[in-house]
Formats: sequence, structure tokens, C-alpha cells
Amino acid sequence: MPHATETDLSATFDDFVRDTIAQLDVELRQLSLAIHADPELAWVEHHAHDLLTSYMEGQPGFVVERQAYGLATAWSASFTSSASAKSDKVPVVGFNSEMDALKGLGHACGHNLIAIAGCASAIATARALEHFELPGRVVLLGTPAEEAGGGKVVMLERGAYAGFDACLMVHPGMGSAGQHGAGVMTSLTRVNCVATFTGAPAHAGAAPEKGINALDAAVSAYSAINSLRQQLPSDVRVHGIITGGEDMSVNVIPARAVLRYGMRAPSAKALAAVIPRVLNCFAAGALSAGCTHTVDGQYAYLDLRPSSSLSRLFKSAASRCLDRPDVDGGESYQITDDFALGGSTDFGNVTYACPALHPMFLLPGVPADEHPHSNTYADAAALPSSHDAALRVSTAIALTALEVLRSSDVREEMRREWLKDMAAIGAEDAMRVIDEVLPRSGDESAGGDCGCSHDGK
Ligand SMILES: [Zn+2]
Ligand SMILES: [Zn+2]
Repeated sequence: MPHATETDLSATFDDFVRDTIAQLDVELRQLSLAIHADPELAWVEHHAHDLLTSYMEGQPGFVVERQAYGLATAWSASFTSSASAKSDKVPVVGFNSEMDALKGLGHACGHNLIAIAGCASAIATARALEHFELPGRVVLLGTPAEEAGGGKVVMLERGAYAGFDACLMVHPGMGSAGQHGAGVMTSLTRVNCVATFTGAPAHAGAAPEKGINALDAAVSAYSAINSLRQQLPSDVRVHGIITGGEDMSVNVIPARAVLRYGMRAPSAKALAAVIPRVLNCFAAGALSAGCTHTVDGQYAYLDLRPSSSLSRLFKSAASRCLDRPDVDGGESYQITDDFALGGSTDFGNVTYACPALHPMFLLPGVPADEHPHSNTYADAAALPSSHDAALRVSTAIALTALEVLRSSDVREEMRREWLKDMAAIGAEDAMRVIDEVLPRSGDESAGGDCGCSHDGK
């Protein structure tokens, strides 16, 4: 019997994964709509946690951990194939299911679609490993608090991503007015901070000279940052607000004022250079008014650095397996050029921890100018065509994962490229500098200690 060629093998895997995901279609649609109908904010995704863990517990061979890593709404579902018993070192691929929604907008970022795409790709990869008797481990992580709170950052620190050869997830993107497709994306590094100015109250009419005006400090700092922005690189963003005004009285010199700022740059290294300049503006404001001030940092969301190996594998799988207008009723699948997103995601931190990929898929049932975080995007996330798009792209990331699991050559080259990229961008130094110049207050690491009345069931 002649040996199967690599092309024959790919076609066999393609068919298997496509068929497996097609079999999951109806149940995943129900799951997606149930999550969509009950949008939950960061750290309190209890309903989504319960639905997804129950679903994964029903998948043969998966071991599910609820409330994983000490977090009320994080979870994991792990599968190790039978053939792994014969292997010394079992390759591991991770997937991610995000769950949280946006305040006032519901699932306007389509995380219900990400949740089911994680399930689809993990289950299809696991079943393929078993069917083709391949060694390998698949870990699906339920990741809370992407929109705020840095759920993946906390999970990274608690070891959730340890030992992954590669990690994958997908995200819905813009509308595309009928066109199916996906592309590899990058995003910005972002860190938020809170500057608190403290002065002294005094009667604004009778004894203003006895006061120390914290609001003046905040306004001076705000103005100083506005001036600084003119001298920053054009791809850097510094944006902020003054809060706490509702606690002030016209006839009292304000003794406390708070600035909340976000800083963004294309890389951790670029951001590390900007942060001290913004901190100087806070200090200048405090000095000018004679106030004291403190600055609390929050989790940095690092830029997405797509693994070039995974990117190649993903594009090849998508064009081979999804772009078949002759059999898919004339529908083609567009592999878009790589694009940069003006936003930020905590999956960026995962790309600094192991080779990883975060493709964005188009929503064909939605006009081309529709973007996430809009009023109407929440409706788009429940459309049958968006569900179909999520399952299609899941096929491509499952096939990408299988190529990683099947070939030690692929894993070695991927790791080599990733190490080279991390060295070239000075990743370790940049992260250390950010931690040093803007230490985190730790507020958000309380994630999981949510104040809601959920009973944990
Ligand atoms: Zn979002
Ligand atoms: Zn999102």
C-alpha cells in the first residue's frame, strides 16, 4: 500500500475537522445564544461559566476544572489523547473562550462567539487526535474579564498557560457585507493608571490661602499631558479623564482629585519609554499646587505579536479548507492582509508567553462599517451568519493546532522564531521596566472575589 502524501493527509484532517464541527453546530448555537441573552461583566460571568463547563463536561475525555486558578469564573477543560501514553513528551496546544460583555451594550464584542469557537476548536482537535491515534494534549481555558480586569494576565501569573507549545483564539471583527473571511491582527500595548492628588480643604471665600488645591494639581497635570502629546510619536496614545468632581463643593478648596489615564503604544518597549514622561506630568501638577500625589498602575495589556509560523499555518488551512466556492455555494473565503487594531487585549500578554495567534474573523451578515463596541454590534453577535463565521474560523484554528501537535519540526521552528522575535523587541526588559516605573496597585488581582450574590453553583 503506497504511503499517503502530506497533501492526502491534510485533506483527511480537513474533512474530519470540518465534519466534527458541523456535528456540533446546533448545540453550540444554543450555547452561544444562551450566553448572548445574559450578558455578564468582567469577573462575574457565572452563567457563562456554568453553561460552558457543563457543556465541556459532556465531551468524552475532557477533564473540566470549574472556578480554576482561584478565580470564580475561570475554568479549564483538558484532553490528553490515548496515544500520548506512548510518548515521552506530549505536545500541548491551548485554546481560549472569552465570556464577558460590555456595560450597557451587552455582547457588543461578540465574546459569546469566542466562547463557542473555543469549544468547537478544542473538541475538534481532541477528537482528531483520538481518531488518528496521535499523541497530544488540548487545553481549553475559560478566560474571564477581557474587557476590564486582565483575566488572562492573572491566569498567566497563576500558571494557566505553562507548558503550552502554542495558544490560539479567534475574535469577531468588522462587518463585511456578505464576504466570509479572516485575517491576522496586531493590537497596541496599553496600561492604565490612577493618579490621586491630595491637598487640604479650606473656605474658598474666607480663607483660600489656607487650602491646598488638589483640583488645580489635576488640571495642571492634565494640561501638561496635553502639551506632552505634541511631542509623542504619532502611534502613541495618552488619554484620560478627571474624576471625583461630584464630591467637590464650590465653596471649599478641593482637597482631593483623581486622574484616570490610559497609555497605548505599538509595543511594550515603546510604551516603557512613554510612561515616565506621563508620570513627570503628574508630579509637575502636584508640585505646582503643593499637593502630595500617588500613582497606581493597573495590568498592562501587551501588544499582540502573532507567531509567524502559526500565521502561515492558519492562512494555509483557511484558504485550503474554507475558500472553496465550487462546493460552498459560490462563497469564497477572503484571507485579509494582516491588520493593526487600535484597541488592546489581554491575549497580547499570552503572545509574550508562548507562540500564539489571535485571528479576527469577518461578520458577513453585517454592513462593512460595523465595528465591535457599538450599539448595534450586540445584535450582530447573535446573527446566524455570525455563528456560521465563528464555526468556519474554528475549523482553521483547529487545523493549525493539529499541525503543531503532529510535527516536532513545526514546533521547533515556531519556538525558534518566537524566541528571536522576543529578543528583537527586548520583551523581557520592556516588561520589567513597565513593572518598575508603574507598579501595579493590585486592585484587579482581587478578580474572582466578586461582590455579586451568585452562589457558585
Ligand atoms: Zn471588546
Ligand atoms: Zn473582545
